[in-house]
Amino acid sequence: MRISKRLETLTPQGDDGWGVYYKAMAMKAAGVPILNLTIGEHDTRTDPAILDAMHASARGGHTGYAAVPGIAALRRAVADRTQRMTGVPTGPENVLITPGGQSALFAAHMLACNPGDTALYLDPYYVTYPGTLRAAGTHAVAIATRPEDGFQPRASDIAPHAKAATSLLINSPNNPTGTVYSAETLADVADLCRTADLWLISDEVYDAQVWTGPHLSPRALPDMQDRCLVVGSLSKSHAMTGSRLGWLIGPADAIAAASNLATHTTYGVPGFIQDAGVFALAQGPVFEREIAAPFRRRRDMVMAMLDPNGPIRAVPSDGAMYTMLDIRATGLGATAFCLQALEQRHIATLPGDSFGQAAAGHIRIALTLPDPQLRTALASLLDFATGLCAPYSASNRSATPLMQ
Ligand code: PLP
Repeated sequence: MRISKRLETLTPQGDDGWGVYYKAMAMKAAGVPILNLTIGEHDTRTDPAILDAMHASARGGHTGYAAVPGIAALRRAVADRTQRMTGVPTGPENVLITPGGQSALFAAHMLACNPGDTALYLDPYYVTYPGTLRAAGTHAVAIATRPEDGFQPRASDIAPHAKAATSLLINSPNNPTGTVYSAETLADVADLCRTADLWLISDEVYDAQVWTGPHLSPRALPDMQDRCLVVGSLSKSHAMTGSRLGWLIGPADAIAAASNLATHTTYGVPGFIQDAGVFALAQGPVFEREIAAPFRRRRDMVMAMLDPNGPIRAVPSDGAMYTMLDIRATGLGATAFCLQALEQRHIATLPGDSFGQAAAGHIRIALTLPDPQLRTALASLLDFATGLCAPYSASNRSATPLMQ
């Protein structure tokens, strides 16, 4: 029997840039001790108090079908958090509870786009984006951002594609780059969406991990509430990746339509997990800051270890649990660099190519190892990279074959 074209488009074609990752996992399974800098999830587990709330809810009987758009208390708690963080008046009618941000990303594109519509997204991107957009039946088009801009998108790069498009997906703080979009970038993007009449789908799952000031949501910009759909989640802010608890925020009529989609797909999120979410959100911003603190500390540590003229150069990362490192000075492509670092140093990193074309010559490290191990891994990577540069170093460094 044939598999549908829709699902065939989810199957990676050829080299999807994840060969290094699969090799690292195979080495780990074979017992090789790997320092793993690939994993986008906390090195701590969900707080036991949240698990207690989940357990008490399940034992209390909240194990039947739960309200499909989300239980009232959780929709209210998410609306309150959103209003507190962005200043935008938000009520439960603006919130759909979903099984993780991933499901909200799919729902947002199902809601915004008709089959065959063009859906724009930015490169480098979170790995599921192209597949999610295609699964929603759209023609997914990637627009490159540039390392020299610190991966901030330029409206002028998006504009030529905007007329033919229905939606634009952005992500700040960004996975994989750690870039936080500036107020100017967001204003330009919002202008473009208003002019070209685009839905703006804003993936804000890292909104609790911003190191440079308050989180900025484009939904708070003038006349954006009616065309902005925000994807959120407790995965990163509360270390609850496995609980699959996220949301979509948007205009009330759009959320009602997305709730119909949920009725016909997920049928909502288990009630005991939603109760745990209510408990988690009631712990307030201090709790979220505690979960985020190690990533900020490790970001600072990594930046302090890197020399702006060294073989590995930092790309400023102002949020999320990742940072991109520019390895172009080593003369090796990112995939070759990651493969050799894995084979020779047993350190697993991901080439920029795993996240599209725009981050060629860069590698992503996740700041998800305990500090001493992260320090050891980075020191070893630096030593490895210095070795690669050695033939060109010191007196003849100017002859280094820089890949620009
Ligand atoms: N969006 C981005 C940018 C991510 O990095 C992730 C997960 O890593 C998700 C969405 C999905 O998160 P979840 O479905 O766990 O909420």
